[in-house]
Amino acid sequence: MRKMLAALGFGLALSVGGAAHAQTDNPAARSTAREIFAHIVAMDTSINGLQTPAMAQFLAQRFRAGGFAPEDVTIVPVENTAALVVRYRGDGTGGRPILLLGHMDVVTAVRSDWERDPFTLVEENGFFFGRGASDNKAGIALLTTTFLQLRAEGFTPTRDLILVFSGDEETTTLSTRTLLRDHRQLLGDAEFALNSDGGGGDLRESDGAPSAYYIQTAEKTFATFTLTARNPGGHSSAPRPDNAIFDLTEAITRLRAYAFPVMWNETTLASFRAGATAAPAPLAAALRRFAERPSAQRGEALQAQAPTMAGQLRTTCVPTRLAAGHADNALPQSAVATVNCRIFPGVAVNEVQAQLQRLAGAQVEVTLRSDLPATDASPLRPDILEAIATAVHARHPGVPLIPMMAPYYTDGMFYRAAGIPTYGVGEIFMKNSDAFAHGLNERVPVEAFYNGLDHWRLLIGALAGPR
Ligand SMILES: [Zn+2]
Repeated sequence: MRKMLAALGFGLALSVGGAAHAQTDNPAARSTAREIFAHIVAMDTSINGLQTPAMAQFLAQRFRAGGFAPEDVTIVPVENTAALVVRYRGDGTGGRPILLLGHMDVVTAVRSDWERDPFTLVEENGFFFGRGASDNKAGIALLTTTFLQLRAEGFTPTRDLILVFSGDEETTTLSTRTLLRDHRQLLGDAEFALNSDGGGGDLRESDGAPSAYYIQTAEKTFATFTLTARNPGGHSSAPRPDNAIFDLTEAITRLRAYAFPVMWNETTLASFRAGATAAPAPLAAALRRFAERPSAQRGEALQAQAPTMAGQLRTTCVPTRLAAGHADNALPQSAVATVNCRIFPGVAVNEVQAQLQRLAGAQVEVTLRSDLPATDASPLRPDILEAIATAVHARHPGVPLIPMMAPYYTDGMFYRAAGIPTYGVGEIFMKNSDAFAHGLNERVPVEAFYNGLDHWRLLIGALAGPR
C-alpha cells in the first residue's frame, strides 16, 4: 500500500513552484491512462471477485497491441490468480535490468457499504473514486501507459525494464513468491526494483501544497507466534499450584514489561533528520540528537517524547488474541495467546522467537506460525536517490525526499529477501486525510493521477535513458 507515516506526525512545510508537465498535458497519454484505469477498476480483483486473471489478460493484450513481442508478455497463472510480466528490451549499455512492481488485486469491497459503486471509476470533486484507486491500480494504469507511450515513441532504454504485476499482494502473496522461486528467468538478473505500491508524496492538510516525498527503503518483518501453556487440568474445586491461564498471563506480563533493543539503520537516521525539521520543539531536538549520534539511551529519550516512535526504533511484539479453558468449572488444560511481531530489518525471526521463549519461561511453548522472510533495509544508493529526486522535483521543486521504513509489508519484502534492493516510489501526492486505502470510498486526486505519468517517465528516463 501507499506510504503511511502519519503515526510519526511528520508534515514538512516547504513552498514549491510550478513545473513543466510534459505528459500531464499530453491528451493522448491522459486518455489512455484514464481508459485503462477505468477498465481495471471495473474488474473486481479481490479474493472474492477473482477477476485478476482477466485483468492480466486485458493488460497483456494492450501490451501486445502496443508492439511488445508476444514472448516478452507473460502471464503466470498461480492458483486462482495470476501475475503478469512484461519486458521492455533495452540495448544493454546501461547495465542490468530494473524491475517495476505493482499489484493487480485489491482488498474486498462490499458494494452496499460504499457511497458509489466501488467497481466503477467515478470522477467527482477532483478525485477518482473506486476500489484500488490508490492501492494500487493507479500505479498499474500509469506504468502500463508509460510503457505504451515510450514504445510508441520508439524509445529504447539502456537496460531492460521489466514490469511485474502480482495478483495477490493483499492476501497470500503467493504469485510473487512463485515468480521469485520458479520463474527467476522472467525477472532477469535485475539489479533493483522500483515499487509503485510503496512511498509517495504528502500534500499539506491546510492548503494542499506538496510537503514531502517518502521513499520506502525498508519494511519490518511480520511474524506471528503462539504462546501455549498446557496443563493436566482437573476439577476447578481442587486448584493445583500450576495453572495454564496463570502461566500464560505471567508470560504475557513479562512480554509487556520487555522492550526489544533500540536499533537503527541509514533509513532510520535519514527519516529522523528530515522529521526533526517539522516536529514540535522537544521532539525535534530528540530526533536530531538521535540522528547525530544514535544510541540506546537517545532512543529511549526519543520514545519517551513520542511513544508511537517505538515502531521505528525497535522490534515490537504485542498479544493480539487469547483463548483458554473449556468449561466454567474446570481447570484449564490449555491457554493460548497469539503474539504478532514487527521485526526490525536485519534481525532474524528465530532470534525474536528465542527472546520470546526466554520471556515466556519453561511452562509456555513459543511456536512460529507465519513463514515470511526477514529482510534488511535497501541501501540509499546516490544514483537511485538522484533519479527519484529528478522525477519528484521536476513536478514539485524543493520537496524534501525522505527515506522511510514501513511498519507493514508489501511484495517488496520478497524482492529484498531475494537480494534485490527495492524502493517504494509511488507516484501519488495526496493528503493523509484523503487516503482511504483498504477502506471505504478509496480515492486518488485526479491531478495527482495524471501527474504520475511524468513521475514514471522521468524516473525511467533518469535510470535507463540516454546519457
Ligand atoms: Zn498495495
